Amino acid sequence: MGLKTRKIKVRGLEIGGGARVAVQSMCATHTQDIDATLSQIAALEKEGADLIRVAVDNPSDVEALAEMRSSTKARLVVDLQENYLLAESVAPHVDKIRYNPGHLHHLEKQKSVEEKVKWIVSIAKAHGNALRIGVNCGSVAPDFLARYKGDHVKAIVENTAWHCELLDKLHFTNYVVSLKDSDPSKVVIGNKEFSKRRPDVPIHLGVTEAGLLPEGVIKTRIAFEQLIPLGIGDTVRVSLTLPNSEKHQEIHWGRQILKDIEEGKFVSVPDFGKGLNIISCPSCSRVENGDFVKLAMEVKKMSAYAKENKLTIAVMGCRVNGPGETDDADLGLWCGPSTVTLKRKSEVVGSFRYQEVLPALKKELDSLI
Ligand code: SF4
Repeated sequence: MGLKTRKIKVRGLEIGGGARVAVQSMCATHTQDIDATLSQIAALEKEGADLIRVAVDNPSDVEALAEMRSSTKARLVVDLQENYLLAESVAPHVDKIRYNPGHLHHLEKQKSVEEKVKWIVSIAKAHGNALRIGVNCGSVAPDFLARYKGDHVKAIVENTAWHCELLDKLHFTNYVVSLKDSDPSKVVIGNKEFSKRRPDVPIHLGVTEAGLLPEGVIKTRIAFEQLIPLGIGDTVRVSLTLPNSEKHQEIHWGRQILKDIEEGKFVSVPDFGKGLNIISCPSCSRVENGDFVKLAMEVKKMSAYAKENKLTIAVMGCRVNGPGETDDADLGLWCGPSTVTLKRKSEVVGSFRYQEVLPALKKELDSLI
């Protein structure tokens, strides 16, 4: 597995070049809640996590991260989300940094993407950090979306390849890429295509917003079973919507799927994905209301009567990424601190209190089926 890619290093951990496929997860606690985050890190480590990602949005998150660094030996990865300018302050405290090419345009609009990436790379070089170029279906760089209008997967592949070329020019090789989508078939197409283009670059594999158990694991299996045996995928994350006390299951399922593939146990689900599809995010430090996970579970239960219909319902945990990530779904919900916004495709139906949103969703679902 992973035989063709080059080997990179994240504080002693080898990724790519034939190394064992590394399994990772991301904390869903509030980063500034140091005790909760440290205890989630410990639970993930106990389950065997090779890398643990933490989201950082602001200087207070960075302070919390710095404090945590002295209390855990876990390999930490930081997710810069929209605020790439935090790279400099987080770099001393982490082993790897993920930047999202689709978010670089939000800040310092007068600077080019090349300048911004050059700066991130200089920081990674100075602190010995590995990097991930993390491209996600819900936040593809606008110029690539415009260039490959209508072909979302192509835009993801081209955007990723473009950033690889940029890092090559900057003589930086200690990086991986990810090309994620919530649709496993698009993950397969995109990663196969990328791997043909750049067989040397290690890949972080994952189906984003795969959702609740067991569907989240099934969707992830569909993609991994088609890619891992081809040597595509050097590190994996299974992205599941779980309560914080169960987050370690992402590591459990990552290891289980890899073990099954190695033993030739493939799970055939020919009809999967033909009916109602519920996608939901794995939550992260941005979740503002813990009821998000409960709501996702209730949506699944309530909508079971419509399971034969080919429709997608998206349930997202925050108001930052939620609005964009629900645009493509037939019906979307994104969760704020006290209200949930209901959408029909990109059009807002209204905002509802948590306890009132299900009947409104059912009304919309009824009108679609
Ligand atoms: S949608 Fe929001 S809460 Fe959910 S994983 Fe993405 S950033 Fe985190």
